[in-house]
Amino acid sequence: MSTWHVAEEDLRAYAQGELTAPLLWSADTHLIACAECRAGLAEVSDPVALDEGWERLDAELDAPRPGLLESLLMRLGIADHIARLLAATPVLRRSWLASVVFLLLTTVLAVRSTDSPTLFLALAPLLPLAGVALSYGPALDPTYEMAVVAPMHGFRLLMIRTVAVLVAGLGLNGLATLALPGYGLRALAWLLPALALTMTGLALTARLGPVLAPSLVGGSWVALLLITHAQQTSAGDPLAPFTAAGQGVAAAVAALAAGLLFLLRDRFDLFNGSAE
Ligand SMILES: [Zn+2]
Repeated sequence: MSTWHVAEEDLRAYAQGELTAPLLWSADTHLIACAECRAGLAEVSDPVALDEGWERLDAELDAPRPGLLESLLMRLGIADHIARLLAATPVLRRSWLASVVFLLLTTVLAVRSTDSPTLFLALAPLLPLAGVALSYGPALDPTYEMAVVAPMHGFRLLMIRTVAVLVAGLGLNGLATLALPGYGLRALAWLLPALALTMTGLALTARLGPVLAPSLVGGSWVALLLITHAQQTSAGDPLAPFTAAGQGVAAAVAALAAGLLFLLRDRFDLFNGSAE
């Protein structure tokens, strides 16, 4: 039998939507299995705040929108509650997609008027990272209310949305790549850095939080490009991250970060289990 329970002050923070990861994930996981803590949560929950949570969630889910994404996802065989969750993920909304498309179009146009795809290759990996970062956290995320009113494994929720946002981001980057046929496969050199940045950002989020981690990773990417650009001997050469060696490093970083993320997931589960 488990002897660890969510502390009352944490339950209070949880009820108010103020509990942060990784405690949030531990509480999520524990609440699914522990009726005692669910009762405690109901006790400390401000009924007004909980109602507001439901209302905001209702408003988000019932807001008139084409429903195209949701029905498409369901047609692809995705369970309807997950399709609903994804459709309520803000970065999959039109405003986010529109800004990504605008950025990519601008960059593609700029690149087409020069003789190097570097600008596009530098920007493209940042977009999926930013998308995943923005799909995280209460300030930007209406599905956060869903986690508050209907506790679900936080890590699973994070993974479902990450995959969706990543697929959308990589898909848009891929379309932009098609607009640069002159560079052939060279124009695809953003893909491995994009995976490396997103995976590293996610793995560090567990330690550094949802703002610092992606900012640090994005900043490092820009710094790396500036440094390799400064060391460039001939203007026509590709920057180090876009050479074969650089791509190998990016693949290794992506794999390492994915492994780290997996290990940290286990640690979140152990955080509950260690007190048993
Ligand atoms: Zn408990």
